[in-house]
Parts: sequence; structure tokens; C-alpha cells
Amino acid sequence: MKVLVINCGSSSLKFQLIETETNDVLAKGLCERIGIEGSNFEYKKGDGEKTGTLTEMKNHKDAVALVIKALTDPETGVVSSLDEIDAVGHRTVHGGEKFKSAVRINEDVIKAIEEVSDLAPLHNPACITGIRACQELMPNLPHVGVFDTAFHQTMKPEAFLYAIPYEYYDKYKVRRYGFHGTSHDYVSKRAAELLGKDRKDLKIIVCHLGNGASVSAVENGECVDTSMGLTPLEGLIMGTRSGDLDPAVISYLMGKENLSCEEVTDILNKKSGVLGMTGVSSDFRDIGKAAAEGNEKAENALKAYALRVAKYIGSYAAAMNGVDAIAFTAGIGENDADVRERICGYLTFLGTELDKDKNKTARGKETIISKPEGKPVLMVVPTNEELAIAMQTVALIKG
Ligand code: ADP
Repeated sequence: MKVLVINCGSSSLKFQLIETETNDVLAKGLCERIGIEGSNFEYKKGDGEKTGTLTEMKNHKDAVALVIKALTDPETGVVSSLDEIDAVGHRTVHGGEKFKSAVRINEDVIKAIEEVSDLAPLHNPACITGIRACQELMPNLPHVGVFDTAFHQTMKPEAFLYAIPYEYYDKYKVRRYGFHGTSHDYVSKRAAELLGKDRKDLKIIVCHLGNGASVSAVENGECVDTSMGLTPLEGLIMGTRSGDLDPAVISYLMGKENLSCEEVTDILNKKSGVLGMTGVSSDFRDIGKAAAEGNEKAENALKAYALRVAKYIGSYAAAMNGVDAIAFTAGIGENDADVRERICGYLTFLGTELDKDKNKTARGKETIISKPEGKPVLMVVPTNEELAIAMQTVALIKG
């Protein structure tokens, strides 16, 4: 089946048309600066050249129209008409407690996504705008919502409740939701397949280490804990996000620097993480280079980053009372051998040992990177959120 996967931001729209029989990406692209001067449309057919065109896009509907035009164009296109596309899968960030799996989108679903918009004020409204534009221009196709939070909905109260007055959970649903769920689900499934085992018989820790980063504990195929919380700010040190810290830091900084709560929250989201710790960059390639050149702050940031990941792995091994496999994924997890080596240095107490040579050459492909005699198995498993969304979309429409 051919599934168009759509991922909308407030001024962007990423898309991939995926053939789910072969997992081939038939075409993909990006609409940037939607509604802003200088909007740009990037498009790539199969393994062809990427093209970029400055094209006015006043809104998401203009963007979707361009996507359809490119996909069906006699020259650049990959289908002769929309009739050849079977469904549209929409990446949706926050599904609150309502959505535990992918759903066929109707007015009630859109209303429910709207209802949890204040939990993801940057993402959910943009997603709804994208869904409406797609529905309008592709009215005959089934539209499916795939939620970043859904995979984590199996967490039990002891994992998702915060130790604050219960009334705030009752009144406002303040709790741990977790994000990157599509990736944690996909990677834990692939990890089990690589081991030749059923995910239902395994305890897997997935480390999704990208610009945003989170760890999850997947026991018998279900998420039992994850490091991101009410919002993606909690947990690991990230490119620009602080991750865990004493909540009292917020009011302390507000007083010292005469900042509003929003301003401190903004600092914690956008100016912290390895960027804030080093002043160098949020990009791990730059941090690694600076550390190698003797920048002490960069070296400390890498050490702090690895320690935080390792502490989560240790606590999730405890949460599951064991662990069979630890999978690294996303930009850093898939590519940064130095960061993986730093993290795995903490894990020998579990009974595993990194094969340093295998680790050094493992880059962007599925690889076991631990020595064969040890357990848990350490592995690199590239994520593919678009493919996962396409597969969930197909599974839903096939019933
Ligand atoms: P997101 O999807 O959250 O924006 P990615 O999964 O693309 O993020 O990860 C981005 C991070 O991955 C950046 O910090 C980048 O430096 C890092 N990264 C990507 N490629 C490499 C590489 N070859 N070596 C080290 N780090 C890399």
C-alpha cells in the first residue's frame, strides 16, 4: 500500500510517500517557512536529486497542494493520481490519555486533539491545521492520527504520576506522558527481531538520542517507563533542553535574574542542554570536536550527558528487574560512537561489555555492538518514524 506520511509544524510540513510492501520511500520533501516570506519547497523522488524551489505558501493548504502537485506531476511525480495513494498518516505529538494507539481521524478525534492542545501548544494546533488542509484536498482518502504519546500509555500510575497533590492530576491531567513513542515502539520491535526473539519475551531499554532525547523501558512489548514527562523537557540532557533538574532552580533564577516563569522555561527548553553547558553548539558533532580540541566545558558536557543516560539505563534495569537488550537510536545514538562508548563504560556492572571495534564502525545501520558472551546485548538500531507511522496507518485501515 502507498501511505503519505505528514508531519506538520507551525510553519513547516514534512512528507514521505512510502510503499509499505517494500518499505521504499517513493518520494519525500519539506515545505518550510509556510506563511512567512521566502517559503521553500524541497522535493526528492526516490533516490533522485533533491530539488529546492522558492514558492509562495501562504498557509498549510498551499503547502499540501504543492505536495500533491509534485507527487502527481507527470515528470517529477511518482503516482499518476491521488487514487493510487491508499491513506494519509499524520504524526501527532500529543494524544493525552485518550489515544492509546493510532486512530482514524474524524471530527471527534480532531476535537480531542484540540482538547489536549495546551499540553503541546506548539505542536497540536499545527497538526490540526495540517490535518484539515489534507482532508480538504484529499477528501476521499482515510486519514489516520499516529500519536507520539500513544506507546507510553501502557505505563502504570507508579510510573506516570508525579508526587504532587493528586488534585492536579484530577483537574489538569498533570502526569508523565512521554514522547518519541513511535520511535521507541519501532526500535524495540526491530531490536527483538534482530535478536530473533518475540518482543513479548524481552526487557528492552531504548535510548533515542537525537536533538530531543528520551529513554524508555519496554517490558514484554509494553512501555513501563520513559524519561520525558508532561512535556519533552524532562529527562536526559539534550541539545538545548536541560532535562531533569531541581524544580526550585526555576523560582531561584526568576528572582536572581528578574525573569518571568515563561522566560526561565524558555531558557530551559532552548538555551540549556549541551548548548547552554558549553556555549559551543547544540550539535554533538561540534561538541565532540571541541572536546577533542581540549575545550573543558565540552568535555564536561559529554561526561554529564553520558552519565545521565547511564543513570536512566540503570534505573530502568531496576524498574524491569532486568534487561535483555539496550538499543541506541536517532542522530547521536546511531552515529556517535564516542558518546555510546562513554555511556556503555558505566554498564559493565550489568554483565555486558562493549565491543569497541564494532562500536567504532557501527554507523546508521543495525548492528550488535556488545561482546557475544555478555548480556544485555548492546545494539544500534536506526529509527524510522515515518515508516513506523506508515505501518501503523496500514495496520489500522486493514483492521
Ligand atoms: P531530531 O530528529 O531530534 O532533530 P536527530 O535524530 O537528527 O535529531 O539527531 C540530531 C543530533 O544527531 C545532532 O546533535 C547531531 O550532531 C547528531 N548527529 C547526527 N549525525 C552525527 C554523526 N555522524 N556523528 C555524531 N553526531 C551526529
